[in-house]
Amino acid sequence: MSSVQLLATAGLCVYLCLAAGLAAAPVSLEDEKAPAYWNERARRTLESALTLTPVTRRAKNIILFLGDGMGISTISAARIYKGQLEGGPGEDSRLAMETFPYVALAKVRRPQLLGNAPRARAVPAAPSACSRPLAALQTYNVDRQVPDSAGTGTAYLCGVKANAKTLGVSAAAVYGKCNTTWGNEVHSVLHRAKLSGKSVGIVTTTRVQHASPGASYAHVVNREWYSDADLPKEAARQGCKDIAYQLVHNTDINVILGGGRMYMTPRKTPDPEYPTDPKQSGTRKDGLDLVENWLSAKEGARYVWNKEGLDAVDENSTDYLLGLFEPKDMKYELNRDASTDPSIVEMTEKAVRILRRNPRGFFLFVEGGRIDHGHHSSRAKQALSEAVLLDRAVARAAELTDASETLTVVTADHSHVFSFGGSTPRGNSIFGLAPKKAEDRRPYTSILYGNGPGYAIANGSRPDVSSLPIEDKDYRQQAAVPLDTETHAGEDVAIMARGPMAHLFHGVQEQNYVAHVLAYAACLEPYHAGPECPAPSCRSGSPGLGHPHSLLLVALGAASLLLRM
Ligand SMILES: [Zn+2]
Repeated sequence: MSSVQLLATAGLCVYLCLAAGLAAAPVSLEDEKAPAYWNERARRTLESALTLTPVTRRAKNIILFLGDGMGISTISAARIYKGQLEGGPGEDSRLAMETFPYVALAKVRRPQLLGNAPRARAVPAAPSACSRPLAALQTYNVDRQVPDSAGTGTAYLCGVKANAKTLGVSAAAVYGKCNTTWGNEVHSVLHRAKLSGKSVGIVTTTRVQHASPGASYAHVVNREWYSDADLPKEAARQGCKDIAYQLVHNTDINVILGGGRMYMTPRKTPDPEYPTDPKQSGTRKDGLDLVENWLSAKEGARYVWNKEGLDAVDENSTDYLLGLFEPKDMKYELNRDASTDPSIVEMTEKAVRILRRNPRGFFLFVEGGRIDHGHHSSRAKQALSEAVLLDRAVARAAELTDASETLTVVTADHSHVFSFGGSTPRGNSIFGLAPKKAEDRRPYTSILYGNGPGYAIANGSRPDVSSLPIEDKDYRQQAAVPLDTETHAGEDVAIMARGPMAHLFHGVQEQNYVAHVLAYAACLEPYHAGPECPAPSCRSGSPGLGHPHSLLLVALGAASLLLRM
């Protein structure tokens, strides 16, 4: 492990250990001057950490929350923003994702379990406690140091690292080359959960055919092949199918909520919400109405396209729900019309209420997909608002599920070149100015981007930001390098978990490890053979992973080793 990784782990550890067990009390800056304030907080945190025990049974349900582009700097800034929205200074606030009762320690051996270190008689509680609660993930793609959302989605959902811009295929598949798809497909934990008899769902604020949700059901060498109108002629001739088509024809998904109507209906089909705007019309050249196809293939299926329709769905009698609320991506939370479009919180709640009726359990993937878009456009307020809403969805799902049987995981696919700094005082608006002027004698905002459309140097100088609407939701923070879209960043992302097997997220891991823990926790292939795993209900016979049989055996061996720990 590099020193950077060690530092990152130590930092995350301190951060998480401090976060766990803190009661949310309104902070008084006066109180903070007394050592007793800090000592008492830390003591409570310590007590809480010492009582944590890992939940070592398998999980009935899995919820994977993914903040697209939600790097650690975004999580920290969102925490402050959340606290400031509640009227506090913000820094001492806590996100719901940070309150997960992480597992511990004492009875769990450290991860030398594969045999390269002498077995300790007993594992000291404290170090172990610190190493387990929060893990970091290395996000690079097979072909990229700084990844994209398609290659990373394939990693954390399918368990195999892949090339950028490809979905549900291994790195043997070549971007854009249709005929390299076949034989290189890898299957997601969502797909495997369905084969094991669970109900499955996806919720996203982007189009449901977008990269992150797409990795849960599609196998495609170009993430932008949303509808058949996006397929190059050669790809169509070779038999490749667009992502919308695969959404309806690959995995039998119970709940699909997000945007993306225009890829589902024939060309020129007017959009129900924007019937007079031809740019929002259907795009399919093959004449298929995929919404109709989906409805007719499922018993008791419902389709809705606005909040009113979603609210009217009876979750106790609906087994299949398709909700597409915009032609493309859903609106930013700050631009959303709450009377016509549901929030990510409302979509998540509906999905959980439908899926949890399955006695065999469920798998739900929830993506806060537009954190990423806010950052790409360098509109930090949009990005952070999306992150705060994703966190509210995390909180709502935690209320609706039982932590003893539901493994809930919150992570990100990659980071962004987003930072905040500048020796700002306590309680400074997260969108506010740093207290001192820069060397150009002009003020600067605490939030800055490494690159992006916020680059503003004209005639050799920056504009004076104190005269600009820096608190506005669409204000673009300044960037050092001009780009029309700000870029992802390559540092590790955090992963937070609660529930059964949450303790298996520890240390700094490759991103594809996530899918393996999820599969192991829920008794999904290839980790489905344990004695405590339920008998299969409708297995396809395909291992689903594209692994050679021998690898499967190795994996099962590792799983049984884990079990004995
Ligand atoms: Zn992005």
